[in-house]
Amino acid sequence: MDKIDVIVIGAGVIGLATAAELCRKFPDACIGVFDKEQQFGWHTSSRNSEVIHGGMYYPTGSLKAKLCVEGRQLLYEFCEQHQIPHQRIGKLIIAREDSEIPAIEGIARQGAINGVDDLVMIDKAQVMKLEPHIKAVAAIHSPSTGIIDSHKLMAKFEAMILSGDNGFIGYKHEIVGVEYTGSEYIVTYKGPDGQVDQLACDWLINAAGLWSDVVPGWLGLDAAKEGYKIYWVKGEYFSISASKSKLLNHLVYPPPLKALVGIGIHVTKSLDGRARLGPSAFYVDSVNYDVDPEHQQQFYDAARLYLPFVERDDVAPDMAGVRPKIQSPTDPQKDFVIRHEAANGLPGFINLVGIESPGLTAAIAIGRMVAGWVEI
Ligand SMILES: Cc1cc2nc3c(=O)[nH]c(=O)nc-3n(C[C@H](O)[C@H](O)[C@H](O)COP(=O)(O)OP(=O)(O)OC[C@H]3O[C@@H](n4cnc5c(N)ncnc54)[C@H](O)[C@@H]3O)c2cc1C
Repeated sequence: MDKIDVIVIGAGVIGLATAAELCRKFPDACIGVFDKEQQFGWHTSSRNSEVIHGGMYYPTGSLKAKLCVEGRQLLYEFCEQHQIPHQRIGKLIIAREDSEIPAIEGIARQGAINGVDDLVMIDKAQVMKLEPHIKAVAAIHSPSTGIIDSHKLMAKFEAMILSGDNGFIGYKHEIVGVEYTGSEYIVTYKGPDGQVDQLACDWLINAAGLWSDVVPGWLGLDAAKEGYKIYWVKGEYFSISASKSKLLNHLVYPPPLKALVGIGIHVTKSLDGRARLGPSAFYVDSVNYDVDPEHQQQFYDAARLYLPFVERDDVAPDMAGVRPKIQSPTDPQKDFVIRHEAANGLPGFINLVGIESPGLTAAIAIGRMVAGWVEI
């Protein structure tokens, strides 16, 4: 059986960023990425808001806070160095009425604790200068929140992996089992024609996104006990008509409600100027990316609380993504799991589980963290 140094499961933005960093760091090694789909970013990495987040929402000391703030800086540098389309469009977290001001002040304080050092509280007159058409009495302005072309970002990581002679990517290659012999991992995969084969490696990196709780089970780890069980939380988007999109200059977020599993239906803009509402958040038991047109009223109701110029017919079904959450409907907010399983008797096995938002923003920082553990 052939053997390589590292196998990465998953060619989403996390697996690709990690493999690109490993290829850069270990020019003499052999690093393989496997994905069951025909192209990179088939799932969550292509179905998100494409926002480069600031990092103000996440709990003190969490990996989400640390890797978002570090990752944002690294991502902007990477975009500038490699001409990845992006824009520092800026974001407003608004108070729609006075009673919401304490909530946004709390977010600004948490942002300062997390090292987001450019947040500014602005009053109604300042909000109106930036966004003359929205309803708000105050806001936090985050100038370094941005948007990015995530497809071009992943295409660049892919090119970095394939440009040397130490990396390869196997699309339409599904990993179906892994065994640890005590000294190496034997990975079983199904190729494009259904043929089953095996490849050995010293390091196994699980970046399987929505299915990342399956891999630890193959190696005898109990997903529920380890806190790896994934719950799928769907988020739908509805677009705002082109003429009304032009009335918005920033990303605009109302304060998150306490019981929410997402951060509430907000407005994002894409690099081509289109505005979208979303994502919503609801638990599902299968992965599909349909948008239910029946949800239009819910989006319209959320929008008109702060976008009075939006009419019902301006709102149309757009796209959907699914979050790989490790919190059940009754759990408190949970952090990313990024763990080397040496303590569980599995040296060389690294799990990346529950990499929901801000995973895109944090991707390069996550890749560096993981590559820092790998010894070849
Ligand atoms: C609605 C929504 C909005 C979001 N908005 C933002 C945002 O604005 N900014 C931000 O920073 N983050 C955002 N995120 C989070 C971000 O999109 C994710 O953190 C990130 O895309 C996760 O990437 P990944 O590589 O871990 O997962 P994925 O992109 O899902 O990649 C995992 C890959 O593993 C493959 N795979 C799985 N099992 C196997 C197997 N057995 N064999 C082979 N291949 C396998 C899959 O085919 C898939 O391609 C959002 C997420 C959602 C759902």
